[in-house]
Amino acid sequence: MNKNSAEQRNLGLNTTCTHVGEIADEQFKGAVSPLYMSSSYAYEDVDVKRYPRYFNTPNQEALSIKLAALEKAEAALVFGSGMAAIATSMMCLLQAGDHVVFQQSLYGGTYHFANSQLRRYGMDFNFTTGTSLSEFKAAVKPNTKVIYLETPSNPLLAITPLKEIAEWAKAEDYITVIDNTFASPVNQNPIELGIDLVIHSATKYLGGHSDLCAGAVMSSEELIKQVWEAGICYGGSLSDYTVWMLERSIKTLGIRVERQNSNAMAMAEWLAQQPEVKQVYYPGLTTHPGHELAISQMSGFGGMMSFDLQDHLSAETVLEATQIIKASMSLAGVESTALLPSKTSHSLMDKEDRLKQGISDQLIRFSVGIEEPEDLQRDWKQAFAKAQ
Ligand SMILES: *Cc1c(COP(=O)(O)O)cnc(C)c1O
Repeated sequence: MNKNSAEQRNLGLNTTCTHVGEIADEQFKGAVSPLYMSSSYAYEDVDVKRYPRYFNTPNQEALSIKLAALEKAEAALVFGSGMAAIATSMMCLLQAGDHVVFQQSLYGGTYHFANSQLRRYGMDFNFTTGTSLSEFKAAVKPNTKVIYLETPSNPLLAITPLKEIAEWAKAEDYITVIDNTFASPVNQNPIELGIDLVIHSATKYLGGHSDLCAGAVMSSEELIKQVWEAGICYGGSLSDYTVWMLERSIKTLGIRVERQNSNAMAMAEWLAQQPEVKQVYYPGLTTHPGHELAISQMSGFGGMMSFDLQDHLSAETVLEATQIIKASMSLAGVESTALLPSKTSHSLMDKEDRLKQGISDQLIRFSVGIEEPEDLQRDWKQAFAKAQ
């Protein structure tokens, strides 16, 4: 099932992005993978019963090979959304009576999934108070089965020590799961650090153009087989047309994210010097508390950051005034976007709790695109001026 050969795991990043898993066009010798939209395949003389919900159409299988190679995993599955990937993985790993430790500061949809779904099925969970190993240790119970991580975190870009937590979890027989969406496989490969299962919202960096919704799970062949068993029941596979679009998008993943990394570094350094900005949260800055840890486990600091405006500036006015940077819910596209966590992802949170976590009304989350940094700087500058 969607095997990834050692040879393919050894190719460089951009070669992997461009070529691994491509389907040869035997008939017309076209340069790109043909798209097979069939939902029905002959049942005679074939080993595999192919069907879109079985995650095994030619295009689904081919993309899985590329995704597995990107995360240095044995196998992968493509889902219809990030949440389909998360929900299916969790329902496969857990049963009634099991307990999950979730890292504090979780993607909102995952938080909602835990609260609205896990409890209904007799599964228990709690949240850590922070991202250190001791805070994870403090949260486990005798029935803990899964440790669920997200690093860098949303929206303050806290860094979780992956290797330390993976070693401890392995010794205690917990399964470690990470949502690696913010880092993308270009900047962080958790499986190499000992994490068991990696999940992506492919709607974000993997897609990268804010025009498709998809998800992915990467892991060992053994765990992927289990996720597949659940997956064919829950039916969260991805349509072949979007699979093909995602394959096309990933060809430029490496160069997109490398540019987003360098743009984000330039923007973080620039923002930190602006009098209108109180504080910048970006793991690439030496002032960030997770900077050294980020260096040890990431190959790039990513395209996501947050910053606090000075108290006299209205963050809402600033976001209304930007011209290039779009005020938008999503992230990770080639276009820069920004939002207010206090009004979006964390709006349902008790205000006191939110402030305690450092998420003020002045906090702007900034997803840096591939534009020229000078243009983005000019855009923020004129927006700051309008909010004075
Ligand atoms: C967007 C997102 C998700 C959910 O992905 P969908 O594709 O919207 O279902 C999960 N985790 C993170 C970190 C995200 O940003």
